[in-house]
Amino acid sequence: MADAIGVDGRMFINGERAWASSGATLEAIDPATAEVFARVALGERADVDAAIAAAHAALAGGWAGLPPVRRVRILNRLAGLLREHRRELAELESLDVGKPLRQAEDDVAAAASYFEFFAGVADKVFGSSIPLGAGFIDFTLREPLGVSAQIVPWNYPLRLASRGIAPALSCGNAVVAKPAAEAGLSVVRLAELAVEAGLPSGVFNVVTGGRHTGAALASHPGINHITFTGSVPTGIAIMKAAADHVVPVTLELGGKSANIVFADADLEKAAASAATTLMQNSAQTCTAPTRLLLEEAAHERFVQLLAQRIGTIRMGRGLDNPDMGPVVSERQMNRVLGYLAAGKKDGARAVTGGGRSVAAELARGYFIEPTLLDGVARGTPLEQEEIFGPVLTVTSFKSVEEAIEIANGTPYGLVTGVWTRELRKALAVATAVKSGQVRVNAYSVEGSIGLPFGGYKRSGFGREQGVEALANYTQIKNVMINFGPG
Ligand code: NAD
Repeated sequence: MADAIGVDGRMFINGERAWASSGATLEAIDPATAEVFARVALGERADVDAAIAAAHAALAGGWAGLPPVRRVRILNRLAGLLREHRRELAELESLDVGKPLRQAEDDVAAAASYFEFFAGVADKVFGSSIPLGAGFIDFTLREPLGVSAQIVPWNYPLRLASRGIAPALSCGNAVVAKPAAEAGLSVVRLAELAVEAGLPSGVFNVVTGGRHTGAALASHPGINHITFTGSVPTGIAIMKAAADHVVPVTLELGGKSANIVFADADLEKAAASAATTLMQNSAQTCTAPTRLLLEEAAHERFVQLLAQRIGTIRMGRGLDNPDMGPVVSERQMNRVLGYLAAGKKDGARAVTGGGRSVAAELARGYFIEPTLLDGVARGTPLEQEEIFGPVLTVTSFKSVEEAIEIANGTPYGLVTGVWTRELRKALAVATAVKSGQVRVNAYSVEGSIGLPFGGYKRSGFGREQGVEALANYTQIKNVMINFGPG
């Protein structure tokens, strides 16, 4: 039963689409037009109870003990279905989040890659054996945790849900996912496709809703693990809720990543990458290197190069495939505009943009001009906090040491970008910065989903992606056997 305009807003529990037991709904809004395009089930405690019960029943029904090679096949089939449904999923995500269609298509491909990667490791979750001498044998088993709660943000619903759900399922866990109220319809579709791929009913459930739905899930005594991606305050609340039931958490809490450009770098290449940061989901990206640190000698030239590129960015509705779409919601737009107003007072100078788009055809939507701010003072909110909108700040530095000090000068530590032709400088930065990833002379690379990813400091803890992610979704049991005569 689809909504009047063709988007099904029901959640997914125990292998079936369902409205909330209370009948409550929330509105899905197209951020490009501010129009409501669907009603979405607003899950409550009773729905969370039902999803968790279904997940435990599925585990008891044999999912956790299934020969891993069967999980390999199911996850590979799901990856194939994602690729088959690439256009449909991308349109849904583009409408929901506002991002350009081709970016949404890349997200679907990335989601498929997560399932392929973790299909590949499902039958390689090895333990070890530990020598104890004659008459003894000791080995470890990596066992699933049980029910993994996946609390997903609105910026990359399908991609980030897949980042956690693929390894969770690969290791034999069941999942209850809770996407964000702003956008998350693709996550429900993912669960539906998983059943089509052969996943038993109840293994992967999705309860849609807002922060209360998320809180009901995070505080539920029936969960065994939480993966959360989103803001620091919500991450803290989730950690506190998890503490009540001694449930392990994996937290990815965003960043304020520095992009360090030395004067010897390929400035054209670095400027092209910086412009992409703005266009990529309107910089509503946890890894976005939004703090440009420019070596003084290259400052003027780089700002000029980047401003030229920003000048060519076409904004529009995601489904029309512009260079850049709107931000996700009115609330997010106002939040970003608030930072821009405060930044002006703190002396920042807008080289490009600086406010809401004035174009008549964009007037109804939540469009913010791609903004480059120079002269951003250290220690100001603009320079310290996650803005999550199309805004790059510029700060100058004079030496490698100063660049490192500025890069490390926020509470976050997710990624650091470095642009230089000198290995010595690249390594000096890479070894001194407090961030979970360092990217030198390229900010993205094909195959990056295999690289361990996660935060230092307030950006969170636990590593996602790569084989390192298996540590989040398994617990180690040690078995010691005395088989000797003594
Ligand atoms: P948020 O952290 O509040 O929400 C993220 C997810 O957590 C959503 O699914 C939400 O419903 C859920 N949630 C909210 N409160 C909860 C609670 N108490 N218990 C359990 N789940 C809960 O993010 P937001 O309010 O949508 O955005 C605010 C800011 O957070 C953004 O401006 C941005 O700076 C940051 N953010 C970061 C990321 C990221 O990828 N790191 C993603 C989204 C937002």
